[in-house]
Amino acid sequence: MTQDLIRAISCADDYDPNSMSVDKARRFIRDFLQPVQTKESLALRSSLGRVLAEDILSPYNVPNHNNSAMDGYALNADDVAASGNTTLRIAGTAFAGKAFEGTVGKGECVRIMTGAVMPPECDTVVIQEHVQAEDGRITFGEGVRRGQNLRYAGEDLKQGQVVFAAGHMMRPADLGLIASLGLGEVKVYRKLRVAFFSTGDELASIGQPLEAGQVYDSNRYTLYGMLTRLGVEVIDMGVVRDDPALLEQALQDAAACADVILTSGGVSVGEADYMKQLLTELGQVVFWKIAMKPGRPLAYGKIGDAHYFGLPGNPVSVMVTFYQFVRDAMLVLMGQPNPVPVPQLSVISAGNLKKAPGRTEFQRGVLFADGDGQWKVQSIGNQGSGVLRSMSEANCFIVMDESCGNIQAGETVKVQILDGFV
Ligand code: AMP
Ligand code: MG
Repeated sequence: MTQDLIRAISCADDYDPNSMSVDKARRFIRDFLQPVQTKESLALRSSLGRVLAEDILSPYNVPNHNNSAMDGYALNADDVAASGNTTLRIAGTAFAGKAFEGTVGKGECVRIMTGAVMPPECDTVVIQEHVQAEDGRITFGEGVRRGQNLRYAGEDLKQGQVVFAAGHMMRPADLGLIASLGLGEVKVYRKLRVAFFSTGDELASIGQPLEAGQVYDSNRYTLYGMLTRLGVEVIDMGVVRDDPALLEQALQDAAACADVILTSGGVSVGEADYMKQLLTELGQVVFWKIAMKPGRPLAYGKIGDAHYFGLPGNPVSVMVTFYQFVRDAMLVLMGQPNPVPVPQLSVISAGNLKKAPGRTEFQRGVLFADGDGQWKVQSIGNQGSGVLRSMSEANCFIVMDESCGNIQAGETVKVQILDGFV
């Protein structure tokens, strides 16, 4: 990044650091992200959650041969009677992994198992439940379609086809799909290194006694969890006091070893003028007030080559700003050019929700199915940005955009589910 971040951002027509919409902030951030470039080869299993650095082409057709999708009898549809029953002689058996080696003559069929190679003379499978087998013959009725119950060679993947483009994040199905190509190694981008620390004179660390006016540092634990789920290398730098020399040292140490620096606390107005001044001296950082709740103050920029996110101190705000800004940015930095946004689903609100227009709110909610199987969302009672229990009890964010006002029970709202399937 150049000395131009601040200039580029502040020259945008609609730039107002004191009133940034969530989307605008996301777009500004997006424009300045420089993904990791270094690649490494990994054994297939180790690539779970990593981002592919090269396209993967299929070296073969998958499946390799036409094969049966069912247990039954392989035959040629030309031998099926135009009307009434058909009777065919059983010439042998084809097992998965052990093909029928003879030839299937006119008026003959082969007993075939699921996955067994289709004899070249056959083009159709009749399932075993639809035939009567007796004395080495089968008889079945009308309604056979040519090509039924077959899996064709290349139906899953064609030889030479791009199976995954570079930038794809590996999921469980993908491990299997790549294994089905016989590939044991893949090229991925190296892991992103993320350093983080908490700031605040009031913070105690686990293991220390809690003095009057202190709180235990919880942000490093939620950040650890969220970062670990993202699959990055975490560098936990502990708690740093509100002391300019210590903060400067910590920021410089972090910039020297990490691709991304996250801090919590010390970026809200009034407080923390140290952080603001230091960040302005050490790097290129902008300070925003985001039109959102929770999570209004957010600092963003670069310190040396490291991307910097200054998250608010309140424990819920840390998590919300992480999920709404840092997560997507991090996916881009990990090498995914177009990360899939967390889906927003429309569900019925079970209760009334208070919401002031003019800012985006991410209220914590519980998604549940009512007696009729209709999905609904119920707000967690206390929406305070310091009430971390609300995040533990919630299974979704209720996303209420800027224009939205109060919601009445029975109206539709959008939710983002906190836990994914894969
Ligand atoms: P700040 O943004 O530094 O003004 O902090 C806002 C609020 O969040 C204050 O009540 C802090 O005590 C609290 N807070 C800041 N950092 C942490 C942390 N690491 N763990 C728990 N609470 C914190
Ligand atoms: Mg503080």
